[in-house]
Amino acid sequence: MRDTKGVTIEQQTGQARRAWVHQAIARVEAEANRSADTHLHAFPLPAAWGIDLYLKDESTHPSGSLKHRLARSLFLFGLVNGDIGPDTTIVDASSGSTAVSEAFFAQMLGLEFVAVVPASTSKEKVDLIARYGGKCHMVDGSAQLYAEAARIAADCGGYYMDQFTRAGIVNDWRGNNTIAESIFEQLARERYPEPAWIVMGAGTGGTSATIGRYCRYRQLDTRLVVVDPEGATFYDAWTSGRRDVVAAGSRIEGIGRPRFEPSFVPEVVDAVMRVPDEMSVAAMRLLDELTGLRAGGSTGTHLVAAFRLIAHMMARGERGSVVTLVCDRGDRYLKTYYDDAWVAQQGMDLDGAGRVLRDFLATGEWPASAPALETAGVEGLGIGS
Ligand SMILES: *Cc1c(COP(=O)(O)O)cnc(C)c1O
Repeated sequence: MRDTKGVTIEQQTGQARRAWVHQAIARVEAEANRSADTHLHAFPLPAAWGIDLYLKDESTHPSGSLKHRLARSLFLFGLVNGDIGPDTTIVDASSGSTAVSEAFFAQMLGLEFVAVVPASTSKEKVDLIARYGGKCHMVDGSAQLYAEAARIAADCGGYYMDQFTRAGIVNDWRGNNTIAESIFEQLARERYPEPAWIVMGAGTGGTSATIGRYCRYRQLDTRLVVVDPEGATFYDAWTSGRRDVVAAGSRIEGIGRPRFEPSFVPEVVDAVMRVPDEMSVAAMRLLDELTGLRAGGSTGTHLVAAFRLIAHMMARGERGSVVTLVCDRGDRYLKTYYDDAWVAQQGMDLDGAGRVLRDFLATGEWPASAPALETAGVEGLGIGS
């Protein structure tokens, strides 16, 4: 059937969809244009050390974490590929921040969003997803999450966003509005604009892939260390070169995965470090106490590794800078990491861990009595030495 201008119904529908996609992309771009870049805070280290530590604060994005960047890129990718249209239900497997940010963008575009989450997900998280109009579909055991998300998307003719596969490909490795480009632009007027180390945990692995690729593309000497918590696979995957490693799962939300994720690119990672959970939580609390930055657990993990590397640089008489990330806000964890009862229940000794960190900040040395942090790929430190 044709209208008076000889245009078929299919063509009309195609044109309407194209117009909607244009408008949707414009909305996502406008949101980016309204948003300010995130701060690169200087962490107060003693000036005499000659080493600078910076924290890229990703907790200030509108949807509260670094996953705001990922969700924006995932939506744009789906839109330009023709996979997301005006009636597309968006589905993803996520236990947390990604679902919150995806719900934010889905609501902005007037799309249904379903997060497939483990049944153990806290009410606070479910409420946050619901705040942006998202629905949660509960699944027993995290191994089924991915298959269940794919099934739900197929059943309703929706789109499985698949963050763990796509996080590593939706960002341009040359920069173009990525976190890597932003970090280096913000370092431009610092005394050490090319950091010795960037410290990042891996959840999808997407952020570490973006940073590692960018450093190579720009021919920088900056090295990337991926820090893994207990119960996760990336440390073992990197050291063994295997991708079939499995683990029990991490208590530090956002990082550490029970399987090797396709977006993790070990080839662009220079070193790995494993941090005990109680040190992560102690560092997260110490950051709050010293700077007023109230962050989540993964930020604590980052900070421990950054401190360990700085102590190593001090021991070797090296100067330079180290950069790491504040990934999300602490108000998401008031009933876990910031709750003494929860910490006691987990059997964590925050006093001992806190003492190690304070001793380091007082002396610049990593206390001999501290538990060794498993490390590979850092010259002179751990098994990579
Ligand atoms: C996702 C996430 C990370 C890790 O980022 P990836 O790019 O997925 O590897 C770290 N911390 C928090 C809180 C996160 O949500």
